[in-house]
Amino acid sequence: MSDAPVLLVTGASRGIGAAVSRLAAKQGWRVAVNYVSNRAAADAVIEAITAHGGEAIAVKGDVGNAADINSMFETVDRHFGRLDGLVNNAGIIDAAQRVDEMSVERIERMMRVNVTGSILCAAEAVRRMSSKHGGTGGAIVNISSMAAIIGSPSQYVDYAASKAAIDTFTIGLAREVAADGIRVNAVRPGIIDTDIHASGGLPDRARDMAPSIPMQRPGTAEEVADAVLYLLSPAASYVTGAILNVSGGR
Ligand code: NAD
Repeated sequence: MSDAPVLLVTGASRGIGAAVSRLAAKQGWRVAVNYVSNRAAADAVIEAITAHGGEAIAVKGDVGNAADINSMFETVDRHFGRLDGLVNNAGIIDAAQRVDEMSVERIERMMRVNVTGSILCAAEAVRRMSSKHGGTGGAIVNISSMAAIIGSPSQYVDYAASKAAIDTFTIGLAREVAADGIRVNAVRPGIIDTDIHASGGLPDRARDMAPSIPMQRPGTAEEVADAVLYLLSPAASYVTGAILNVSGGR
């Protein structure tokens, strides 16, 4: 039986989460690929991993639902019997709106998925990885956004606020569980060329924003994955509570 470390990546059927899963497998992690509804997309990520000799499973679950989160981690327990890393990647944006147009439902869903979901997943990971619970330690990487700093006025102030919460959660949790052998860091992507912009009704956003980015181009999901894998790796053994901008200088 393999004793390779096990990583759970939320929202991993496409975009940054899929790139993190593929790169993690190449670097020796066994990967639990979380998806909400698109099983075929999750299976495609798993096929890409197994084609290179890696090991991965698909784990269904909505991080906006506490019961789903619980069963997701139980599936990982049953299949792998251990957990060494978590990437809180699942996240949503909504159509560009001013705050005075936003519905309560929109704001609550944004916070439930982006903030509550990340905190509940981290709690499940800490229960398994903490030396205080008999675990052997581990690493958590949260996916924030440059929106946390910019604030995204007239677009997504709710999304920006949810990512600022992720930054603060990262700093606090890192200090809370440092003595448990768990490192907690975050990556702040800038404009990355993924499908999330289409979900916000602006499919060309990544290309349109290029002139405003010092490096004059959007980033790729793979470039974000490189930063995430660094933070998960032993190369970052003394790094905790850090938030790394991956934004082409933006
Ligand atoms: P994406 O829309 O391609 O991927 C998001 C993934 O999260 C999808 O697989 C989706 O199914 C999943 N997801 C959504 N709601 C979920 C839920 N309730 N439960 C489980 N999974 C759920 O976008 P992406 O760009 O790959 O985004 C990944 C992360 O990066 C997000 O947290 C996003 O906020 C963040 N981010 C992206 C950019 C960018 O420009 N693309 C910039 C900054 C931050």
